[in-house]
Amino acid sequence: MTLVDLKSFGDELKSTSRLPVLFVGHGNPMNALYDNSFTRSLNIVGGEIKNEYKINAILVISAHWLTNGTFVNVNENPEIIYDFSGFPDELYQVKYPATGSPLYAAETLKLNSNIVTSSDWGIDHGSWTILKHLFPQADIPVFQLSIDYYKPLQYHFDLAAQLKSLREKGVLIIGSGNIVHNLRLSFQTIRTHGEEFALDWAIEFDAWIKSKIDTREFNSIINYESAGEIGKLSVPTVDHYVPMIYSLAIAEKSESIIYTHEEVTFGAMSMRCFRIG
Ligand code: ZN
Repeated sequence: MTLVDLKSFGDELKSTSRLPVLFVGHGNPMNALYDNSFTRSLNIVGGEIKNEYKINAILVISAHWLTNGTFVNVNENPEIIYDFSGFPDELYQVKYPATGSPLYAAETLKLNSNIVTSSDWGIDHGSWTILKHLFPQADIPVFQLSIDYYKPLQYHFDLAAQLKSLREKGVLIIGSGNIVHNLRLSFQTIRTHGEEFALDWAIEFDAWIKSKIDTREFNSIINYESAGEIGKLSVPTVDHYVPMIYSLAIAEKSESIIYTHEEVTFGAMSMRCFRIG
């Protein structure tokens, strides 16, 4: 399919009621196999949205698709990607046989001229480990938008704001990352204190972000360095932080934001999740 074909593809897409937007703190890939308070919260949220709305496609902005440029995946049959190493065999046996959505990928392409197509990505673990619990039947098409890792947070906020109309076309947009994600200090802390321990600065930064979300101070979230040392420790690299920027930018400021899961674990990993609208 050529670019011109793709751009005219989907011209007839019908409007629907405005779908919610999600942010999911995905954490440990093993959650794909677990039954815990986090995975149960995903199952509840997914079930509620599926009952209430007709979801035509799911768009995931995952911390695990980092690129030079902004790409939308147009694969009709995206393969599941096991983009990690050193986990038990059973994690590599997990399947999530959702189809792709060239139709809604084409719709996304129209919204910002920086977005280009890609067909060499599938569904990475930032997506399938959570979709497994949100929509276990894998009966809704899934596509992803990459994160241009060379761009500042403001670029991502502005680009995401242009994707709002997808919500009215039956697209459920999900940012998948972690507000606090410091793997080096997580591993160090797990060794000394166990998996359930949370470091003070991680709890503090997670609460700081929550307070900024509650007051809709999204500029402070973009300029998180203003939080000082707790920001530096919680966001040593922005890969897991950026997906939240997408979810927030897609929200209307007047919409309700509900925290569907709140937890800091693994020393320095916030599993906070929220639903907008
Ligand atoms: Zn991750």
